[in-house]
Formats: sequence, structure tokens, C-alpha cells
Amino acid sequence: MELLLTCRIITIFPELIQAGLRHGILRQAQERGKLRAEPLDLRDFAQGKHRQVDDYPYGGGPGMALKPEPVMKAVEHAKRAAGGETRVLFMTPQGAPLTQNDCERLSMRRHLIILCGRYKGVDERARACVVDEEISVGDYVLSGGELPALTLLDAVARLLPGAIGDAQSAMEDSFANGLLEGRCYTRPAEWNGLRVPDILLSGDPVKIAEWRRRDSLRRTMKRRPDLLKQAELTEQDEAHLKHLQTSEGDDHESHQTC
Ligand code: SAH
Repeated sequence: MELLLTCRIITIFPELIQAGLRHGILRQAQERGKLRAEPLDLRDFAQGKHRQVDDYPYGGGPGMALKPEPVMKAVEHAKRAAGGETRVLFMTPQGAPLTQNDCERLSMRRHLIILCGRYKGVDERARACVVDEEISVGDYVLSGGELPALTLLDAVARLLPGAIGDAQSAMEDSFANGLLEGRCYTRPAEWNGLRVPDILLSGDPVKIAEWRRRDSLRRTMKRRPDLLKQAELTEQDEAHLKHLQTSEGDDHESHQTC
């Protein structure tokens, strides 16, 4: 069992992080010894009787901001605990939007430190002095960086070799090959008057693989045509896309939702 990644998450709500780490892939990756992840309570690095981590913003206005000193101390502690090269990520709506490519890149790292903001965010000087990379989970504002941190770590953990039971499944996911995954069915073969496409019941692995590729192309074209520009496409794929553009599309589309 080789430990592949450690991740320390700096937060004022360690229980929120713990709860996320106790389930699903994040739990499994830790049980399999591939991932070691833990929250660090920002308050443990604050001074004074009240262990104050936030304060009023200079210049006035509503809201509070996280003070720079505890953030710096927590990051230094996390770096010492990692004992190797680290990358410090700050979750913020002002960061670069998270992509599957980022997750792949970060899954190659040995040690991550994630800083979760709260209130109005983090004092600008702490941000400038300790943060290597700023990451957003989308163009909307949450009240803290904890859910974004768990989002990022979940997406990274499932890419660690051996972290999930079925590695093939992760390779077939949406974005893994630059496309969205196509339709998926499970038993029963007929439900609510709707039948699973015959080809999936045929047992012919080559035909099924072809169907899935075509379905993935079709769905990507309909929902996220922007992705097709970046995806690696074969001549066959290109031909199929042309066919989809000129015709009403695939066979077996009767009960697809897009
Ligand atoms: N006033 C700040 C937002 C603060 S939201 C601004 O306008 O930029 C409080 C904290 O929640 C942020 O510091 C960040 O850590 C987290 N957060 C909110 N939305 C986020 C998003 N879309 N992606 C990543 N982190 C986010």
C-alpha cells in the first residue's frame, strides 16, 4: 500500500471537512492507504484567550475577513507536517475555474494544502504570501471554502491509482477523454414502457463500444459542443459528428433526455 497523496485542509469548521472525508471515495481512498487527508483548525493557530481568527475589514463595510497571522502559521505547520514539496491552494470564486485537467495535474502531487476562506475571505497579504494557486468551483458565491475543498479533493482522489475499485470506470467518466459520457442503463431491461437500447443487451463488446462512443459524441455535441474543439477525435468520430449534424441523429434515441 503506497501513500500517494496527503492533503491538509485549513478551515474554521474542521467537523465539516471530517464529515466529507468519512464517506464514499474519500473514505475509500484513505482506507486503501492511498490518501491521507485531515482538517487543520485555524483557531489552533490563533493567539489570545479568544483565539480570534477574523476581524473587521479596514475601510469599513459589512463582513469580516480571516486574519493573516493564523493563516500563515497554519500553512507553515501544514508544510512542516508534509515534510516534502507542497502546493498551497486557496478556494475562491476569484480563482481559475476547476477543470478535470487541473484534477489530473493535482493528483500527481504528493502534498496538497487547501485553504478555505470564510466571511469576506482572507486578508490580501496572507493570500499573496502563502498561496500558490487560486481555484474556483464555479461562478457563484458560497459562504465558505469547505465544500469547494471537498469537491476538489473528491475529484482528485478518484484519480489516484488504486483509490477506487474500478479504475476503468473513472477512465470512462465525462471529461476523462474530453467528452461527456453517454447514456447509461441498468436493470430491468424494460421499465415504465421504455426499453434499453437492444445493442446494450447484445453482448457484443465491439458493437457496444462503438455505440457508446457514438452516444458520447452525440451527447457532447448537443450539450457541450465547446468540448469537441479540444477533444481528440478519430476520423470515424468526425464522420459520425457530420452525420449527426446533417441527420436527426442516432438510432435508439427514443427516450434519451437531451
Ligand atoms: N467576498 C468574496 C467571496 C467570499 S465567500 C469575493 O467576492 O470574492 C467566502 C469564502 O467562500 C471564500 O473566501 C472562498 O474560500 C469560498 N468560496 C465561495 N465561493 C466559492 C467558489 N465559487 N469557489 C471556491 N471557493 C468559494
